[in-house]
Formats: sequence, structure tokens, C-alpha cells
Amino acid sequence: MSNLKISKLHKHFGAVDVLKDINLDIRTGEFVVFVGPSGCGKSTLLRCISGLEAASSGSIEIDGQVIDDVEPAQRGIAMVFQNYALYPHMDVFGNMAFSLKMQGLAKDEIRRKVEAAAEKLQLTPYLDRLPAQLSGGQRQRVAIGRAIVRDPKVFLFDEPLSNLDAALRVRMRMEIAQLKLQLPNTTMIYVTHDQVEAMTMAQRIVVLKDGRVEQVGTPLELYERPQSQFVAGFIGSPR
Ligand code: ADP
Ligand code: MG
Repeated sequence: MSNLKISKLHKHFGAVDVLKDINLDIRTGEFVVFVGPSGCGKSTLLRCISGLEAASSGSIEIDGQVIDDVEPAQRGIAMVFQNYALYPHMDVFGNMAFSLKMQGLAKDEIRRKVEAAAEKLQLTPYLDRLPAQLSGGQRQRVAIGRAIVRDPKVFLFDEPLSNLDAALRVRMRMEIAQLKLQLPNTTMIYVTHDQVEAMTMAQRIVVLKDGRVEQVGTPLELYERPQSQFVAGFIGSPR
């Protein structure tokens, strides 16, 4: 089933065309990686999907419903940024509970959701710690936990590991893969400029270049049948 459908999406900032005729069809539960060089429009595309940025034209559907005029908070989309900011004065529980409190959920409902998310992210022992008392990887997991408690249909990651050191990146990649297994029906879109990350994590890769989709395929398809020199070079195919 198609979960996220993007049709003829264009985005310009003033005279600069940043996204040009983006068409994508992403299935429910799919793990898709958007990859491409810095400045090619990856973050802008995620921001259009999440509603933080309005598209100049084109449309986006979730489960068959056009969401172009739906408020970001109502889209069922969660976003994890590279510069995640936790509330420093709130403990892990408070950070993860915050948006649910804003929604006015009952206390026991909030506790149930936060504890379930903490369990998935191995954060149960840390619920009463402050962000300053956590490692970088644990803080990143809290940022993911804040999103998970809202049961998003689509999870957007914008280079979530780029602030972490190499060893921690490897570990967090495995943890995100594990998270995907635990949330089989949650569509995940993961943005990176790192081709190794793309090749190892994706079910399908979308290669972006200068605001256009250059090629879409499984990691193996892109590796074995790159449609352009650009894709071959970027993916590292022997061509
Ligand atoms: P990526 O995430 O792939 O590095 P971005 O989506 O951040 O790329 O940016 C794509 C292009 O759009 C860049 O040229 C960037 O300078 C430009 N851009 C992004 N956001 C804005 C903005 N708010 N105003 C003007 N130009 C922007
Ligand atoms: Mg970016």
C-alpha cells in the first residue's frame, strides 16, 4: 500500500529552484534513504513533507489523503533533526512526555506511552536523568523517543548521526535498524550525505542531485545498474 505519495513537487526560494518535479511513491513500513551531496535539497524535501516548509506547487498525500493544507502537528509525521535539542531542565521522562502533555493526554496514558517508547529504545534505566547526565547516543535516543510516543505514521530523520563520532555512528545505525524492526508499519525516511550509510540501511534509495530525483532503486540495483555517471560515482560502483 502506498503510504506517502509526492506528486510534481516544486519548491523555490526567490529565484532559486531548490526542488524540481519530485515524484515519489513510498510504501507503508518502507525504510527509504534520501541521499545526495550537500545542498541538493534533501532537508528542504523533508521540510516540505513535514509541513515546516510549504511547497511552491505539487502535492503530498498520506494514505490517499492530500495533506498540503494540514498543519504540521496534525500530519502524523515525526522529524528527528541533526541538531536535536532536548529540554535541559527536564528529565528523560519529561522530555518524552512533553508533547503528550501539550496534547492534553491523561497522566496514565502518558506514562504508558513513554514507558513503552523507553523500552523500545533501551532508555528505561535513564528516565529520571537529565540530558546533561546522558551520553551523546542516549540523548539521540531520547530525541527519537520524543517522536515515537506520538505514534507517527511517517518518521523523518535528517542526518541524525552527523554530530556523533564514528564509533557511535556505527552503533546508532544498528539501533535505528533495530527500531525499524520494532516498528514494522512505520514508514521511515532517512536523509544522509553518506553513501555507506545509505547502502547499508536502505530498502530503497532515492538519489537526489540539484533538486531532482536522479535515480530510485534498491542498494543493489543502484550499485549494479547506475543510470548515470553521477550515481555510479556517488554509490561507488565499478563503472
Ligand atoms: P541539503 O539538505 O541537501 O544539504 P538543503 O535542502 O538544505 O540541502 O538546501 C538546498 C538548497 O536550498 C541550498 O542551495 C540552500 O542554500 C537552499 N535553501 C535552503 N533553505 C533555504 C531558505 N530558507 N532560503 C533560501 N534558500 C534556502
Ligand atoms: Mg540538509
